[in-house]
Amino acid sequence: MKPKEPALDWWSAQERILAETAPLPAETVELSCAFDRVLSESVVACRALPPWDNSAMDGYAVRKENVMVGQPLPVEETIAAGHPAKTPLAAGTARRIMTGAPVPEGADAVIMREEAHEEAGFVTFQKEPKTGQHIRKQGEDVALSALALPQGTVVGAGEIGLLSALGKLLVQVHRRPTVAIVSTGDELVPADASPAFGQIVNSNAHCLQALLARTGCDARVLPIAVDRLESLVPTFRAALSADVVLSSGGVSVGDFDFVKHALATIGATQHFAKVAMKPGKPLVFCTVDSPKKTLWFGLPGNPASALVSFELFVYPALRRLLGHAAQDAPHPKALVQLCTPVMPDRERTHFLRAFVSREKTPPFSLLAKPLSHQGSGMLSSLVGMNALLEIPPGPKPLDAGTPVEARLLATV
Ligand code: AMP
Ligand code: MG
Repeated sequence: MKPKEPALDWWSAQERILAETAPLPAETVELSCAFDRVLSESVVACRALPPWDNSAMDGYAVRKENVMVGQPLPVEETIAAGHPAKTPLAAGTARRIMTGAPVPEGADAVIMREEAHEEAGFVTFQKEPKTGQHIRKQGEDVALSALALPQGTVVGAGEIGLLSALGKLLVQVHRRPTVAIVSTGDELVPADASPAFGQIVNSNAHCLQALLARTGCDARVLPIAVDRLESLVPTFRAALSADVVLSSGGVSVGDFDFVKHALATIGATQHFAKVAMKPGKPLVFCTVDSPKKTLWFGLPGNPASALVSFELFVYPALRRLLGHAAQDAPHPKALVQLCTPVMPDRERTHFLRAFVSREKTPPFSLLAKPLSHQGSGMLSSLVGMNALLEIPPGPKPLDAGTPVEARLLATV
């Protein structure tokens, strides 16, 4: 008998994976395609924002020293947004000015329309303005040559707005990983087939594809490989053009679990093959130099195990490849209260699939309801899940109300 392989703690397994993972090189994309990508360059402002002093209000552009409460000033003209005044403000006059219009030379304050009274071409004001009031100064948002966005910024809608205002229409971001999905198992058939007795649908491929889409990665689904080395090895070789491969099934101790053997045959370096967690104990992580480095996740075949392993191990690795900072937690964590008692596993960390919601009344605590079917083969255990509860190993049951740590998979 071969000696038993040791099972790693799940966090050590995650560390080993991240130690093999670095952000992918840069590519240039159009701004319209940059949403949710990570900048691989720092962006310096090549123009000031706002580009010139402009009015923050609909009102009157004035020179402060000319304004006295109750004393009318002649109104010279109206300055609309997009139509700068052609001449400076003459002493002792005011101009109607609209929000966003350039403040004319010579004006040093804007008085809101609500604080003014205009009649027959003259305007009187209810109070004296402060110098600079209601004027948005050139560069007060972003100064010319300032660092507008540092490298590593995740490009959201606000960042896209800023980049477009700076005229930066091509941006450098970390390349997205290409991912191949390889499902293994003699019993598997595609979802559009009618499974015969003994056959089941390859649901993992669909589930993983959805998880990859959520992560912003393109997936290539390879044909199902059967449980023979002659089938696994060529399919595995074909998968190596991807940056990341997610195989599922065939990593346990069954007579037909040949995935580790096939990986060794294609020259993979195995970093670990077992994690002390439930579900998802058999989990193979390898790297293959082919000649570029491919990360290989040999996920277990059971649907819940595959999904939980994706969230804990694949997702953080993909985020790192996409350029997210190593210290960014891939899932927000929260302390939540168990709604029902839970019996921990004696040896392994149990990741319970759960639905977390906020109480409707004070103190608005986060409550976690473990989903009823927790079997690793049960697809219904994944339906309605929005969190994974981390239940450390232990001998005693946890009562309802016990605080436990949750990884939130969706906004609660
Ligand atoms: P394995 O990890 O190959 O021992 O498979 C464990 C269980 O997961 C078995 O009941 C398989 O039929 C099932 N399984 C394996 N691969 C898939 C898949 N791609 N989709 C759905 N179930 C699967
Ligand atoms: Mg199998």
